[in-house]
Amino acid sequence: MYSSVDLHTHTTASDGTLTPKALVEVALRRKLRVLAVTDHDSTEGVDEALSAAGSTLELWPGVEVSTDVPGSEVHILGYLVDHTDIPFQAMLRRLRDSRLGRARQMVSKLNDLGVAISWARVQEIAGAGAVGRPHVAQAMIEQGYVATLPEAFQRFIGRNGPAYVERYRLTPEDAVRLIVRAGGLPALAHPVIVENGKESWLDLEDLLPRLASAGLAGIECYYLNYTRAIKRRLLKIAATWNLVATGGSDFHGLGNLVVGPGEVAVPDEVADRVRERLIQRQSGQQRAQQTEV
Ligand code: AMP
Ligand code: ZN
Ligand code: FE
Ligand code: FE
Repeated sequence: MYSSVDLHTHTTASDGTLTPKALVEVALRRKLRVLAVTDHDSTEGVDEALSAAGSTLELWPGVEVSTDVPGSEVHILGYLVDHTDIPFQAMLRRLRDSRLGRARQMVSKLNDLGVAISWARVQEIAGAGAVGRPHVAQAMIEQGYVATLPEAFQRFIGRNGPAYVERYRLTPEDAVRLIVRAGGLPALAHPVIVENGKESWLDLEDLLPRLASAGLAGIECYYLNYTRAIKRRLLKIAATWNLVATGGSDFHGLGNLVVGPGEVAVPDEVADRVRERLIQRQSGQQRAQQTEV
């Protein structure tokens, strides 16, 4: 049995291994009803996914924006964004461009460290998609320098690794505002990462007040390997901050995070709550505009 709602998935438009069409085909086979395509710093997969979805699957244009926070990875999801919004696309393009220069520098650092992978191969692996560290890691695996993606991150390209390079990123607040301006609903992605049974929590006491005033509307409470205790704690936090509890599989495809579309238990009503909140916000904005006139 699969969940009928999955609000966090990646495609070849970033570091996923399935094309948008192939992802939608899996989702259709699994009888999902709502699927958000949330590629890193890109909505380039959305149109293909929309055409493939037909009428039985509600396909949400989405995005996952990586942000700049010292010492940790804060990702902001945007659901139901207007992916045709021109300023939004200009910013996403800028973010993707900074990924290119950065990946190139990482390859050169790796070369200095004796890891002889080529930039041409990394580009080939990334294809037309937003280039990311998993593409660099894939090239390292192909050449036998590491056996797995986690090993590549641990030994070389993780935040504290010797080949890590920074890039231009938005603050989490600006990522939230970017999504709001593009008509979408912003949610904090994976507030806790569970790896080998170990929980790494973001500093929510610091983040949530800042993000809430920027317009944060959701928080991922249903995610890979979340225990009942984690879910309970996150749902409480969601209630305290009046955030919609969202969730998804963060499907990337084979070899990476290995859970498939619909394989994280997300309650059906989550999609309704997101839609409702978006409508509430839109009518609030209209009222505010009317009183300004
Ligand atoms: P980037 O977008 O270049 O910052 O790379 C981040 C992406 O790499 C994440 O979204 C995951 O898909 C993947 N990733 C991050 N950490 C790990 C890890 N330890 N093992 C495997 N994949 C990872
Ligand atoms: Zn990813
Ligand atoms: Fe993420
Ligand atoms: Fe993701």
